[in-house]
Amino acid sequence: MTHTLNIIGGGMAGSEAAWQAANAGINVVIHEMRPKVATFAHRTGNLGEMVCSNSFRSDDSEQNAVGLLHWEMRAAGGLIMEMANKHKIPAGGALAVDRDPFAESVTAALKAHPNVSVSYEEITELPTDGLWIVATGPLTSGNLATAIQKQTGAEALAFFDAIAPIIYHESINMDVAWMQSRYDKGETVEEQTAYLNCPMTKDQYEAFIDALLAAEKTEFKEGETAGYFDGCLPIEVMAERGRETLRWGPMKPVGLTNSHDPETKAHAVVQLRRDNALGTLYNIVGFQTKMKYGAQKTVLQMIPGLEDAEFARLGGIHRNTFINSPTLLDHEMRLRSQPNLRFAGQITGVEGYVESAAMGLLAGRMAVAELTGQTLDPVPHTTAMGALVTHITGGADAKTFQPMNVNFGLFPPLEGVKSGRRGRKERYKGYTDRAKIDWQAWLSQQEQPAA
Ligand SMILES: Cc1cc2nc3c(=O)[nH]c(=O)nc-3n(C[C@H](O)[C@H](O)[C@H](O)COP(=O)(O)OP(=O)(O)OC[C@H]3O[C@@H](n4cnc5c(N)ncnc54)[C@H](O)[C@@H]3O)c2cc1C
Repeated sequence: MTHTLNIIGGGMAGSEAAWQAANAGINVVIHEMRPKVATFAHRTGNLGEMVCSNSFRSDDSEQNAVGLLHWEMRAAGGLIMEMANKHKIPAGGALAVDRDPFAESVTAALKAHPNVSVSYEEITELPTDGLWIVATGPLTSGNLATAIQKQTGAEALAFFDAIAPIIYHESINMDVAWMQSRYDKGETVEEQTAYLNCPMTKDQYEAFIDALLAAEKTEFKEGETAGYFDGCLPIEVMAERGRETLRWGPMKPVGLTNSHDPETKAHAVVQLRRDNALGTLYNIVGFQTKMKYGAQKTVLQMIPGLEDAEFARLGGIHRNTFINSPTLLDHEMRLRSQPNLRFAGQITGVEGYVESAAMGLLAGRMAVAELTGQTLDPVPHTTAMGALVTHITGGADAKTFQPMNVNFGLFPPLEGVKSGRRGRKERYKGYTDRAKIDWQAWLSQQEQPAA
């Protein structure tokens, strides 16, 4: 019996999903709206077009979580990595590519595959029949976004991300910071100590505001209107409105007593909240920002307790269509309310070319298993793929869900290795060694019939 998989969107995720499914003997139809319908960022009608930088970031599979994702995709015969290798250009330890030949090769490989066809059309409604993957990315067309919103609820689809910086818990100085919820609110001790607080004196606050005002900022790109004015103002915009604005907003010091120094009232307090179930990552509450990355680190490390902070991801505000995956998707990336639809790529709340392609790879394989009646074991949480998919489909806090890059904070901790900066090299090697073994084992369980 011939099985068909339909994929909406031939970007990073859709192209990889199509390749995986086609190589497993499934007929794939990619529905791509470009070049008929344009986006503000794409320039061509190619599949797998890179919309901005030409880098797939670090290629170090021993010490870097993105590099590990590269390794896992290569081990699974990924198309995006194969074509990236083919069109690699010198970039130190990063995997950068010659973008046009790269996308042309992705397009040519898919078009030449006997199991793949491409239909150039915009899909405007969510299909009710057949098995589909929705991989329409951060610039999903307006019509389809409206249809997704109708199916999932207005609150469940965002058009902008407003990312506050995320910090590795182990890099925070707990001799300075303390755990307490404002006014000790909550029924349980866990709730009453849910926030991590960093105190500031008046001098520290004034110096922080000066640095914030002077920091280099990123401008909005064309088509990225300033959609942040409803409750998620960047901190630098708040500071521009008045030096005291932040002290009345996310840095207000009320309802908090510093357990290290109960007699001294802080002039301002920066609060961090747990960002994942593992408790390895904390986001700075209300600190979405358009500061440039270099400036962000310098300014945020002025916060007492965060002097040595290591960032799992820096803040940003972008045009970005994404769904609230932790509430909407099951562990196989299917829409709970309409399981014939899988979501993949950036629309699921991962961030970046590599992460998007990786989620396409998983969605493609999951769809193959479903179409051919196989049962897949859950993707091991210990792998980069598993860490990401576990995060978006359950590990992340649904209330504050914002797009995420892959990082070691998403991995289950290793027993018996040193924590902190000193043990980092050994720890990262431990994570990546464990991931490689577990990923190979997961792959080897799947029978891949020849194309
Ligand atoms: C302005 C901008 C700059 C970015 N810069 C970077 C960067 O430098 N580095 C990085 O790693 N990431 C960057 N990103 C994020 C980047 O878009 C993603 O990492 C990656 O492209 C997402 O892959 P995807 O497959 O989910 O979406 P895409 O690669 O965007 O693919 C989605 C595809 O779906 C198509 N589509 C949309 N709606 C429909 C529809 N209704 N019917 C049919 N087809 C449809 C689109 O034409 C597109 O081809 C940027 C994003 C934006 C918006």
